[in-house]
Amino acid sequence: MGSIRLEKVTKAFGDHVVIPSIDLEINNGEFVVFVGPSGCGKSTLLRLIAGLEDVSGGRILIDGDDATEKPPAKRGLAMVFQSYALYPHMSVRANIGFPLKMAGADKAEVNKKVEDAASILNLTDYLERKPRALSGGQRQRVAIGRAIVRSPECFLFDEPLSNLDAALRVNMRLEISELHQQLGATSIYVTHDQVEAMTMADKIVVLRAGNIEQVGSPLELYRSPANLFVAGFIGSPK
Ligand code: ADP
Ligand code: MG
Repeated sequence: MGSIRLEKVTKAFGDHVVIPSIDLEINNGEFVVFVGPSGCGKSTLLRLIAGLEDVSGGRILIDGDDATEKPPAKRGLAMVFQSYALYPHMSVRANIGFPLKMAGADKAEVNKKVEDAASILNLTDYLERKPRALSGGQRQRVAIGRAIVRSPECFLFDEPLSNLDAALRVNMRLEISELHQQLGATSIYVTHDQVEAMTMADKIVVLRAGNIEQVGSPLELYRSPANLFVAGFIGSPK
C-alpha cells in the first residue's frame, strides 16, 4: 500500500517538453523529496502523480495497478498545496470536513474524522474559528487536516512551507516529519530548499530540467554526488 512507480513518464505542454522521460520507484512508507531549481518540473511531476495533469506518455502504477487513466479522487492520494486554499467563510471544522462531505459521508462520521485529525494536528481548540483568525502555521495545519481526513495512502506536498517565516518553517518541518511517522503513509514532498530536502527525506530525487540527476539518501548524495550539479545543489564538497 502506498507504493508508486513511474515508467517512462513524459510530459509536454504543446511542443514544450517539460519532462523528457522519468523512471522512478517510491516504496511504501518512504518520505521522498523532489528537489531542484525553480522551473525544473517538480510541481508538474507531482501533479502527474496526483492525476491533476495527464501524462504525455508512459505509465503511473500505484500499488502495482496502472493508475495512469484514473481520476485524482480514485488514486488514494491527498495533495497539500503551497497556498493553503482554505475557504474563508467556513470554520476550521467545515474546512477539514469538506472533502468527506463531498464524498457523501454522514455528519457523525465527518465530525469523528475531523476531530481525530484536529487532535493529531493540535487544532482541537480552533475548530469553530474562521481561517482569518488563525496564524500561518495553524492555517497550514488545517490544509494538512483536510488531506488527513481522507486517510490517503500517500501525501503529496508541494512546497507547503514556502509562505511561512523561517522560524515557523523549522517547526512545521518537524511536525510534518512526525506526522509522516505517525500515519505510516508514503509522502512525496516538493521543495527547492536543500535544507528541507536533507533534513526530511529518506530518499531525495534531484531534478534538473525535467530529468533525474540522482536518487539517493541524503547521506549518499552528500558523500557521493553524481555530478557537479548535484554537489552544488546539495552543498557537498565535490
Ligand atoms: P517547478 O515546480 O520545479 O518550479 P513546474 O513544474 O511548475 O516547475 O514547471 C516546469 C515547466 O513547465 C516550466 O517551464 C513551466 O513554465 C512549465 N509549465 C508548467 N505548467 C504548465 C502549463 N499548465 N502550461 C504550460 N507550461 C507549463
Ligand atoms: Mg513548483
